[in-house]
Amino acid sequence: MVEIDKKLAIPQGMCRSLIQIVERFAEKGHQCYLVGGSVRDLVLNSEAFDYDLATDARPADMMKLFRKVIPTGIKHGTVSVILNKKSFEITTYRSDGKYVDGRHPEKVTFSDTLEQDVQRRDFTINGLAYDLVHQKIIDYVSGYADLEKKIIRTIGDPMERFTEDGLRPLRACRFAAKLNFAIEEETLEAISRTLHVTAKVSAERVRDEILKLMETPKPSVGFEHMRRTGLLSLVLPELDASFNVSQNRFHRYDIYYHSVLSCDAAPQDRPIIRLAALLHDIGKVPSRRPGPNGDNTFYNHEIIGAKMARKIMKRLKFSNEQTEKVTNLITNHMFHYTDEWTDGAVRRFIRKVGLDAIDDLITLRLADRKGNGARSGLPAPIGTLMTKIREVIEADNAFTVRDLDINGNVIMETFNLQPGPIIGTVLNELLEMVLDNPDLNRRDLLLDKAGEIIDRQPIQSRATPD
Ligand code: ATP
Ligand code: MG
Repeated sequence: MVEIDKKLAIPQGMCRSLIQIVERFAEKGHQCYLVGGSVRDLVLNSEAFDYDLATDARPADMMKLFRKVIPTGIKHGTVSVILNKKSFEITTYRSDGKYVDGRHPEKVTFSDTLEQDVQRRDFTINGLAYDLVHQKIIDYVSGYADLEKKIIRTIGDPMERFTEDGLRPLRACRFAAKLNFAIEEETLEAISRTLHVTAKVSAERVRDEILKLMETPKPSVGFEHMRRTGLLSLVLPELDASFNVSQNRFHRYDIYYHSVLSCDAAPQDRPIIRLAALLHDIGKVPSRRPGPNGDNTFYNHEIIGAKMARKIMKRLKFSNEQTEKVTNLITNHMFHYTDEWTDGAVRRFIRKVGLDAIDDLITLRLADRKGNGARSGLPAPIGTLMTKIREVIEADNAFTVRDLDINGNVIMETFNLQPGPIIGTVLNELLEMVLDNPDLNRRDLLLDKAGEIIDRQPIQSRATPD
């Protein structure tokens, strides 16, 4: 064990609350240290998010020590203490038993020493503790040295640690991307040799890990490790299959590198857009055909790709909302704006994509361009399209059937019709007309036009009540 004198830059208010908690434990003869990710991030001079604490006190004791305390994960020894309007997770020292199927620890055993608690943790850089009162880092696992060397290394034998929990290899790749660290050689080798364990990890845990990877500065770093170790073929075989699949003369990179670089280029705080960027060209793999001039074509790849993305996201248990967002962006990512687009075409585009998704689609397009090796910045035609879209929105023009100055009931009453498919046909045709010319969105004009449309229908579909 080594102790390193170091003052970590914890924001003042936070530090005061933490010390208040530690002193409360000390009064009763208990230890309490800051542990895990926050120590790692603070040593690296990054902002820390969760200030997790560990103690030798048992959950029942903690419940008595504080006024406001919630038993958030009592089975695992975790309680949340509310102090100065902030919530702190405090966990009793544990030594986790073996993981069943590489998924869950079979049993959690509380322990009395910080050292045992540290030994159950995954990587050395995540195994540091901080003595807040004496401002000392306590290091049982050479984590401090690994932080300085920028290395991710398991605590103990990597084969053993990855066999206990198959999520850890994915975490290693994620931390590599988050911190821009290397993965130590034996640790990296063990990833490839424990794929059968990772294969058993629940889809939800894999999903959460992928989302966390999306929030790192450069997800491509993580994906590269995943590809080389075989993890990618396990969790995203469709993306793995795009490696070395060349595109055509318009593209510098193969489909795989274009995908991960586009993902990097999407905003770090928009994980779902990053996921859409990652998967936007996934349909190019099965749709790739040699074209007339010998160069590859990818007809319909956006439709095929959206279907593939839907399947992937279902498999990984993403929510319906997340899936719809991603597949909508992929379906629509191929738009080609030219000066010939009329206002009607712009309105039709907004209707197809959905008003809420327009900005995201433009963001995806920019990421796609950057992922192509293009310089950043908005190409002029897209700037013009954005302006037109803004104009159309400001003019408050009709976009959906609901915005028409008429509805199905009015049509049925006026023309003495029963509910049936004809009503939808009429409304849609009226909408098409209004999209081209919003001035026509007036009830009298719409009724005239509706009459014409109905007259054009075959007699049986106009069936009126007897
Ligand atoms: P971040 O919050 O930035 O994702 P973190 O290090 O805080 O990083 P958490 O998942 O919040 O990660 O976990 C907190 C700590 O718990 C980790 O630092 C690590 O010590 C330990 N830990 C988390 N998951 C595992 C695991 N699967 N196996 C072993 N230890 C783990
Ligand atoms: Mg954390």
